[in-house]
Amino acid sequence: MRFGCHLSIGDGYLGAAKKAFQMGMAAFQYFPKNPRSLSIKEFNKDDTALCKAFCKETGITSVSHSPYPTNLTPHNMKQREQVIRSLLNDLEIAESCGSIGVVVHFGKHLPNKTLIESYQLMIEVLNDVLFEWNGQAKILLENKAGVPGTIGTTLEELVQIRKLCDQPEKIGFCLDTCHAFSCGLWDGDNWLKVLRRGTDLGYFDELEVIHLNNSKYPTREGKDRHAPIFQNGYINVDQFDQLMKTPKLNGIPFILETPKEEVPHEKEIRLLKEKWG
Ligand SMILES: [Zn+2]
Repeated sequence: MRFGCHLSIGDGYLGAAKKAFQMGMAAFQYFPKNPRSLSIKEFNKDDTALCKAFCKETGITSVSHSPYPTNLTPHNMKQREQVIRSLLNDLEIAESCGSIGVVVHFGKHLPNKTLIESYQLMIEVLNDVLFEWNGQAKILLENKAGVPGTIGTTLEELVQIRKLCDQPEKIGFCLDTCHAFSCGLWDGDNWLKVLRRGTDLGYFDELEVIHLNNSKYPTREGKDRHAPIFQNGYINVDQFDQLMKTPKLNGIPFILETPKEEVPHEKEIRLLKEKWG
């Protein structure tokens, strides 16, 4: 099992990789730049190259996460251009660090557009980004939190959007367990059903990373509040156990985005390894 957590790049990309190694992790996630902005980062190519070499040598998998304002359903042309430029910058940094891809949240249902128009816009933005991208790093589409029926919460949408893009081979998936729980996609008791449906759809063939998070709220309440795996959450250990022991998920990096003030990540990784390592 490849366990890891989200880490800061305060000490650079190599610094984050070294931290992951020190913590005994086989994977980590990082923001390629300021997580609150879409501005383009002129990154240090020596640092990214050293990060890539270090990860290769130590067998660590890294995953990048796009900044929060990255919106696949932009409100206007100016924002659309910013999102496209920023995502290409994220992909370039990810590639340079040797990361598998850049996690991006599914788009929104725009208030002045129909659901179909919102999907269409999302496909156009993805097409524009990937038309200009020829690296190995992929866009990793993440399922959203929300009450049942919210856009981007079903496996069907993820699979269909990918399929409808011009270059689906450049898109993979990221499954967030808290988001899946929040909307009832995975309610804790239906894992076998999720697994069967996802397998039929081909979802699991494209799954590249899991955001391993518990939820502070019960299922189907639509709340996106992450909790540590072993405490303060509504998903119990037996429910996680079913997911963790799924052979299809072997080798996929499991990344914690849990509140480290509640349980330090060092400790949480140790507990994960004890239980499922
Ligand atoms: Zn997530």
